[in-house]
Amino acid sequence: METQTEKLLVVGAHGDDETLGAGGTIARLAERGVTVALCVLTNDDGSRSAGIDGPPATNRVPAIEAAAAVLGIKRLTIHEFGDNRLDTVGQLELNRLVEEEVREFEPDTIFTTSLADLSLDHQLVSRAARIAGRPARGSVRQVRSFEIRSATDTGEASGITPGFRPTVWQPLEESHLERKIEALRCYGKELQPWPAPRSERGVRALAEYRGSQIARPLAEAFELVRAVV
Ligand SMILES: [Zn+2]
Repeated sequence: METQTEKLLVVGAHGDDETLGAGGTIARLAERGVTVALCVLTNDDGSRSAGIDGPPATNRVPAIEAAAAVLGIKRLTIHEFGDNRLDTVGQLELNRLVEEEVREFEPDTIFTTSLADLSLDHQLVSRAARIAGRPARGSVRQVRSFEIRSATDTGEASGITPGFRPTVWQPLEESHLERKIEALRCYGKELQPWPAPRSERGVRALAEYRGSQIARPLAEAFELVRAVV
């Protein structure tokens, strides 16, 4: 599959979804000459600072840009919706925006969030990417979902079924995992101390676990949504 990918579009709800879900794979593919575009639907971390005593929401655009540069992402589209408010935007509008991105960039492959995630933003964006990537509409031959620590695993632990079921493994070199962790550092406080799931060691632990499933040192796992071969 990897050799067939020439133009990859990554569709995330929040800045950091792309890095947590597929940062190592993006770094690897970009290194091999694949043109990678990123479309992010929200531009702040508003839900984390909710409440009258909380700090104001942080604009994440500089962090997204910095992480994208680390991973080798060439094209960046950031929409200005609020974190955890994509339900107020509505599925139809999200579909339209991702379809527009697909029409302009003409990717052959899309990576996106999982329908199994606890985050409603992730579910809505996953649906939009699946709809935008349906074969009858053009260039996309493959759609995959990625897993995000403390969103995908929490979904499964909260009774969302079917859960994330990996069917594609991308082996990674140590350098790709290092780029993923470097990109995560761009998001500042999103990278927490061990043993938080989104700690450096937590991210490495998942890469080692997914790698060991295929007898390789490191990997990222994906769920294949659809492939036209
Ligand atoms: Zn997210």
